[in-house]
Amino acid sequence: MITKYKSNSAGASPFSSGKKSSEDSVVFKPNQNFSGARKMSPANNLSDPLNIDAILNENKEFLRQEGKPVETKTASTENRATVNRPIILRAQANRPIQNNRPVENKVVAAKPATTVKTPYNNRANNYRTPRTGASTPYQPATSNITTLKGVAPVRQVFSQQSGSNSLRIMVMGGLEEVGRNMTIFECNKEIIIIDMGLQFPEEDMPGIDYIIPNVTYLQDKKDWIKGVIISHGHYDHIGGIPHIMGEIGNPPMFMGKLTAGLVRKRNIEYKSAPTLKIKEIDDSSSIKLGASFTVEFLRVNHSIPDCFATIVRTPFGVFVHTGDFKIDFTPVNDKPADLNRMAQLGAAGVRLLMSDSTDATHPGYQVSESYIGEEMGKLFEKIEGRIIIGTFASQLSRVQKIFDLATKYGRRVSLQGRSMTSNVEVAYEIGYLKFDPKLLIDDKDLNKMPDNKVIIVGTGAQGETNAFLSRVVNGEHRVVNIKHGDTVLFSSSVIPGNERSIQNLMDRVVRQGAKIIHYKMLDIHAGGHAKAEDLKLTMRLFKPEYFMPIEANHYMLRAHAELAEQVGIPVDKIFVADNGQVVDFRMVGGKVEGRLTNEKVPTDYVMVDGLGVGDVSEIVLRDRRMMSEDGMIVVIVTIDAHTGDIIGNPDLISRGFVHMKENRELIEKTRVRVKKIVKDKPTASAVDDDYIKNKIRNDVGQFLFTQTKRRPMVLPVIIKV
Ligand SMILES: [Zn+2]
Repeated sequence: MITKYKSNSAGASPFSSGKKSSEDSVVFKPNQNFSGARKMSPANNLSDPLNIDAILNENKEFLRQEGKPVETKTASTENRATVNRPIILRAQANRPIQNNRPVENKVVAAKPATTVKTPYNNRANNYRTPRTGASTPYQPATSNITTLKGVAPVRQVFSQQSGSNSLRIMVMGGLEEVGRNMTIFECNKEIIIIDMGLQFPEEDMPGIDYIIPNVTYLQDKKDWIKGVIISHGHYDHIGGIPHIMGEIGNPPMFMGKLTAGLVRKRNIEYKSAPTLKIKEIDDSSSIKLGASFTVEFLRVNHSIPDCFATIVRTPFGVFVHTGDFKIDFTPVNDKPADLNRMAQLGAAGVRLLMSDSTDATHPGYQVSESYIGEEMGKLFEKIEGRIIIGTFASQLSRVQKIFDLATKYGRRVSLQGRSMTSNVEVAYEIGYLKFDPKLLIDDKDLNKMPDNKVIIVGTGAQGETNAFLSRVVNGEHRVVNIKHGDTVLFSSSVIPGNERSIQNLMDRVVRQGAKIIHYKMLDIHAGGHAKAEDLKLTMRLFKPEYFMPIEANHYMLRAHAELAEQVGIPVDKIFVADNGQVVDFRMVGGKVEGRLTNEKVPTDYVMVDGLGVGDVSEIVLRDRRMMSEDGMIVVIVTIDAHTGDIIGNPDLISRGFVHMKENRELIEKTRVRVKKIVKDKPTASAVDDDYIKNKIRNDVGQFLFTQTKRRPMVLPVIIKV
């Protein structure tokens, strides 16, 4: 069907469409015939012992092919300012962003955690909800260590070590928000890390691109870090990597093949990021990290292929971290979640299950990605004109379905947006997306095609400015304009907080003559996360002794904790923690016992604003908020350098505060106050600039607040003559 359209001239890949300068352009390298010509680093032989040199060489080879200078460099504070601002970030959001939490609530004292020793606080005891539905008696874990795939039991190792008396787990982000996921396991001066994500900013953080996990705690423990495991390729799990890896000594990393492709691709954008030592894993991998940890990987489903739960074998038992997951019996282009292995692990004994809570408040089971495909297929059958689909660039399973349907209905596909083309390229080259490259339409041919043969896939279904859909409705897109007869499909659920911008976007689409179909009108969106019944099933299979909900806002964690109680996990073995709160497992009377402690390691925001990392403090943010809400007023005072007397009238300049001409009286009163402040200074001789500046800032600020109920930023400027 597809062959009736001629492919591009000379058989060059439609990806190489020569539009590199525009923001929205395709950045793929020319890649003849698109037949996987550019080799990615081969899958590692996973049974081999960890060979860092080999990994490093492999990555160098990859970078050479990418055209990035090959050097191992560690990010330093000097070169941070050169971090490129990834313009596609907002378009990449794939999970709800919470916009309603004041920044102040988030800040915890940045005390060095190692010095804080507090008695146990069995906080879980305070958490009680009526138990319902616990029909089957709960079977706790029976044994500590099992040997899978020839991995030596590690308990002995532990008993030989002195001074290693506990296993500590710290979730650095993702317990009070959706995003910024990062978990630290620490045992016997050895550390492994799971995920390194970013969090999208909240509404009261003007000018901030995103937030990354705080790694202050790891600063003096770089030698302890044995490895970093990445569960899957979404930004809230990989976004912090280019910023953090250099800060923690660039330890080896372990992740699935697709995830590795996405991580490498992103890392190239950051000149100061070190060359990563990535080892690709799959569900047969077993990797020994230090003396305390052996990690294995269990396949789960999500909205992107190649997602793994991490199984951490330790001297204190088996710990499972699900990452983002759902259970899909009929996934698109992915294998189903490995329920069998969950049950095996459960039978052998799981000490702690840390499980994704994103959809814990949603009853029932998650819909399968294949079902969504069927629903979309029914739509495609009916639509006569062009189909324009807005989705997330990271929703690769959905993109696969679109290609399948294009083939079936004789349409060709135009990919729009840098993040979309970039992700599709990575996934295609390593075989996670399967389609005939002839299906792709080059931009120059797009408007020559019959309308009923076209599908345009782009980002921006959340109404993000600068994303494909917004630019189209604003008439800013080079090739695509909405026209009568188009159908625009919003193929993603509304992220809380984006409602208004999406409604606005839909209005404009309809005004321009197109029809709209969104996920509520038809079931064209399957979430990527396990719902309540899936979560209960997961708990039944793993049968953990302890349970810890992760990866969501606090109320969702609580909801998940309730589900855990329903399946019979004792309430004092369920830990609902905050970011940085230490969970501790140790031997008590010959038995491993877990506790949620009062100890907290620093998790203050580290913000990235395109200029640098971590150099935007709370003070800068407060200033930005103040100026955006109440404006600013500049007070210029000229003072005689010898006598300290004021010369002439102070000048006042207002921006965004009040209109000067309409508020002459207020301005005059302010001038009088300023004069008085200068005149009343305590010493007549020496002129203390700071004293006068502070006095003006405070007094004038107070005065303007009583007069206007606004708090503009007051900027005193003193000129001495
Ligand atoms: Zn995800």
